[in-house]
Amino acid sequence: MFRACVLRSVENMIEARELTKRYGGRTAVDALSFTVRPGLVTGFLGPNGAGKSTTMRLVLGLDTPTAGSVTVAGRRYDELDAPLREVGALLDARAVHPGRTVRRHLLGLARSHAIPARRVDEVLGAVGLETAADRRAKGLSLGMAQRLGVAAALIGDPGVLILDEPVNGLDTEGIRWMRTLLKSLAAEGRTVFLSSHLMSELELTADRVVVIGRGRLLAETDMRDFIDANSPDSTLLRVPDDESGRMRALLESRGAGVRPDAGGGWRVTGPTATVIGELAREHGLAVHELTPCRSSLEDIYTAMTGEAVEYRGSTDTDDKEVPR
Ligand code: ADP
Repeated sequence: MFRACVLRSVENMIEARELTKRYGGRTAVDALSFTVRPGLVTGFLGPNGAGKSTTMRLVLGLDTPTAGSVTVAGRRYDELDAPLREVGALLDARAVHPGRTVRRHLLGLARSHAIPARRVDEVLGAVGLETAADRRAKGLSLGMAQRLGVAAALIGDPGVLILDEPVNGLDTEGIRWMRTLLKSLAAEGRTVFLSSHLMSELELTADRVVVIGRGRLLAETDMRDFIDANSPDSTLLRVPDDESGRMRALLESRGAGVRPDAGGGWRVTGPTATVIGELAREHGLAVHELTPCRSSLEDIYTAMTGEAVEYRGSTDTDDKEVPR
């Protein structure tokens, strides 16, 4: 359904260089440099207020940098010949005329860029809104509005997609759908850049990650490397209650970090699960559970940003640790 973008993929980089935006005395984006490459999903991670939306607005020419630059395919957004065909964006899913139907909204966008009307049906199919084509925007759930926003972003079949918190308002099935869609768009050679404060979502979706806090770059790396480099290994250990104190003392005498786990048992850092198991055997202690765990992206991010974090919305209820 989508045109193959692989050949033009080298053109589709987003490059920010010392990008800075100040509003009065407040610096929203602070000398930010990063590159977003085609063929990958790149997550843009940061707490609320970190400067993600401002950065995206600067990429899309909706705001002017105080200093520095950001380009798409080597040009500023306002220098692009046919922006909608080159960069698709979803910033605010509710920014649609409430009385307009789904189809009319998309048709209007298509007409404004000389895009054939049949493309409307293609994108409606791509986002699963065929049966809602005649519904008015004001009657859409937030999840449906997000799908409409993605359809609008795709209408010009662009090589670059910029999506601000696209899973907001989606249910579990919708989140899974979005993840699959974004990955397939990247696999076609497109540049997919999406922001989120939902760490667990990016962990599953993104190949690369650009992490910011208070407008500054904290990390720009492969998602896997980011997690591996930053996550202290830990092991969930459960032992019989009456041996628990002995086990803890033994581990601490070997320099291990031991703290109670929220779900019961001990969370041990330092020795590997194998070493813990051997130690227990040497001392004749029973082990009921020994599970190696890796910190989640959320743990790592929280550790990195420390008190810089302004967020912690009610949606941040993701699992703390995931089994390896
Ligand atoms: P995020 O998208 O990561 O939540 P934003 O880019 O929305 O962060 O905001 C970054 C900072 O810039 C915040 O402190 C916000 O209050 C401020 N900010 C954003 N837009 C404006 C504006 N138009 N005027 C003044 N301050 C702004």
